[in-house]
Amino acid sequence: MTARIIDGVAVARQVKDEAAAAVAELKTRGITPGLAVVIVGDNAASQIYVRNKVRTAQELGLLSELVALPASTTQAELMATIARLNAAPEIHGFMVQMPLPAHLDDKAVIEAINPLKDVDGFHRENVGALMLNQPGLRPCTPAGVMRLLATAQVPVKGAHAVIVGRSNIVGKPMAMLLLHAGATVTICHSQTRDLPGFTRQADILVAALGRARFVTGDMVKPGAAVIDVGINRGADGKLCGDVDFDSVRVVAGALTPVPGGVGPMTVAMLIGNAIAAAGRGS
Ligand code: NDP
Repeated sequence: MTARIIDGVAVARQVKDEAAAAVAELKTRGITPGLAVVIVGDNAASQIYVRNKVRTAQELGLLSELVALPASTTQAELMATIARLNAAPEIHGFMVQMPLPAHLDDKAVIEAINPLKDVDGFHRENVGALMLNQPGLRPCTPAGVMRLLATAQVPVKGAHAVIVGRSNIVGKPMAMLLLHAGATVTICHSQTRDLPGFTRQADILVAALGRARFVTGDMVKPGAAVIDVGINRGADGKLCGDVDFDSVRVVAGALTPVPGGVGPMTVAMLIGNAIAAAGRGS
C-alpha cells in the first residue's frame, strides 16, 4: 500500500478562501476583523511564525498588528500590553507567541487574555468549553487536524484514535476534539509502556511528541490515517516531522507530509478564530 498524501497547503487554501469571504461579509457590516500577535524576544523560529501569521492576516483583509517586544520586557510591561489589547476595540483577537523568555510567567499571561479574544484557545475558559463541548475558541493546531481529517474524508466516528503527546496545546485538545467527534481515544506519552503496542491499534494516529522521525512504519496499522504534527530539524538539518515519512508511507492509508501538512492549517485556523471572534461581537 502507498498512502494517500493529505495536502495541507490545499486545505489551508480552502480555509483561507472561506476566511476572505467572511471578512468581506463582515466589512459590509462595518466590521474589519483585527488580529494582533505579540512576540517577546528574538527566538528565530518564533519570529518566522509570527511574521507568517501577521502577513496571512493582512492578505486576507484583516487589520493585523505585530507587537514586537524586547527580550528584556518585564512581566508588568507584558501585562500592560495585554491589558491594552484586551481593551482595544479594533482588535478582536490576539495571541502571545510561546515560548516566552524564561523570566516571564506564561500561565499568568494566558490567564490575563480576555477569553473572547483568546484566538489560541489556551485560556482556561476556552479549555473548559472544549472539555464540555460548548462553543468557544478552539486551539488552532488540533482544530486544523480535524479539518484535514474531514476534508480527506477519514472516518472518525467509531475509529480508534491514538495520540502520541499530551501537551496542553496539541495532545490534550486533540483528544477532546476527536472524542467529541465520536472516536475512541487513547493518549500516549513518555511514560507509556509498549508505545508501539498502542500505535499499531490506531485507525487514526496523531504524532505530536516533538521527536524527529520517531514513528516508523512498523508502529503503524496497515491502512491507518497518520497525522504528523511534529516540526523538527533532523540530523541532516532538514525540516521533518515526528513520523518517518518513507517507512510509514508504504504502510499507512493516508499521511500528512512535513512541511505542507498540519503546519499551514495552524495559521489558517488562527485567522478563522479571529474572524469568529469579530463576528461574535457584532
Ligand atoms: P511538548 O514538548 O509540549 O509535548 C510533547 C509530548 O510528547 C509530551 O506529552 C511528552 O510526554 C510526549 N513525548 C515526548 N517524547 C516521547 C516519547 N519518546 N514517547 C512518547 N511520548 C513522548 O510538545 P508540543 O505538544 O508543543 O509539540 C509537539 C510537536 O508538534 C513538536 O514537534 C512541535 O514543534 C510541533 N508543533 C507543531 C505545530 C504545527 O503548527 N504543526 C504547532 C504546535 C506544535 P510527557 O508529557 O510524558 O513529557
